[in-house]
Amino acid sequence: MDILCVGAGLSGAVTGRALAEAGHRVTVIEARDHVAGNCHTERDPETGVMVHVYGPHIFHTDDPGVWDYVTRFAAFRPYKNRVKTTVGGAVYSLPVNLHTINQFFGRTMRPDEARAFIEEKADTTIADPQSFEEQALRFVGPELYEAFFKGYTEKQWGCSPRDLPAAILKRLPLRFNYDDDYFAHRFQAMPEAGYTAMVAAILDHPGIDVHLATPFTEDHAARADHVIWTGPLDAYFDHRLGRLGYRTLDFERFTARGDWQGCAVMNYGDREVPQTRITEHKHFAPWEVHAGTVCYRETSRACEPGDTPYYPIRLVEEKSMLSDYVALAEGTRGVTFLGRLGTYRYLDMDVTIREALDASETLVSAFEAGAPA
Ligand code: UDP
Repeated sequence: MDILCVGAGLSGAVTGRALAEAGHRVTVIEARDHVAGNCHTERDPETGVMVHVYGPHIFHTDDPGVWDYVTRFAAFRPYKNRVKTTVGGAVYSLPVNLHTINQFFGRTMRPDEARAFIEEKADTTIADPQSFEEQALRFVGPELYEAFFKGYTEKQWGCSPRDLPAAILKRLPLRFNYDDDYFAHRFQAMPEAGYTAMVAAILDHPGIDVHLATPFTEDHAARADHVIWTGPLDAYFDHRLGRLGYRTLDFERFTARGDWQGCAVMNYGDREVPQTRITEHKHFAPWEVHAGTVCYRETSRACEPGDTPYYPIRLVEEKSMLSDYVALAEGTRGVTFLGRLGTYRYLDMDVTIREALDASETLVSAFEAGAPA
């Protein structure tokens, strides 16, 4: 079969590789001039630091199959994400843990005391939280919500946390101990040579042709027996049902000597501070030595046509447009929709890889059986 993968991010690369290994001919087209999508990394020309060009990406998973997969293509170094946040003139530890709670409330509570203290503040009348705000009020109470989540979320998503799904907050744990590991996953690491080298290695197969700076056209699709679409779901259908909302990010780069902020990611919870976070990239590679340092000051805004889409917003009110697009996608023969943009879901890298591996397996079996996919 002739397979066309639209997009050379994780979904396109992993699926393309699996199909090429199964003996199919794979063409990958990528509109940008690099592979790896939004996990693209490159060395900063001035400082030599490996930069996460589209914002911080930390690999974490509990899925041994995904871990085996990525370590086939890249050497990884152990890496724990320890995020700080600046709020109201003080620096706190994230995710909200016993240190955060004790510091914020000026207390010295032990775990059980803190749990009872927070439960006292939680709004237990909210039985089944639907929105981000309900989830926060139900589990962390109003003070921590106002300080650490409300302002940041308004800046990040450009809307009220009342209009966002509870699932966004469920990404973050609340801990009643001093564990400040941002993720609770067994495997947490950083590819030593960056994500772009890893994705290039995945794509390095004699059955795969990669074309950079090549936007999708109908001609490409006409030459393929099957298309793997990893671009925006609504773009595939020419936005015929309307535009699904995405957030895009802007990064203001600055450099300094030595160590500028002392950690990789500093969040800014206050609504009045424009940035959501500042990333100091050298801290993602603590095994490297650089005299200079490069930081990205990150702000978020609505994605306009022509901007790079980052986050699917999934406003509560957008649900019906989304389900209509999903129905269109399900009814489209010969095309598989994958990834954060192709399925319009807030996916982490490991889930993206898992879904691409599973989809490839299904496709390989369907092609072998001669069934239309
Ligand atoms: N969040 C917040 N305050 C923070 C960090 C996160 O309110 O200091 C909220 C925010 O809405 C964010 C969500 O939690 O979009 C998920 O955070 P995560 O760190 O997983 O975001 P990502 O790194 O994927 O942008």
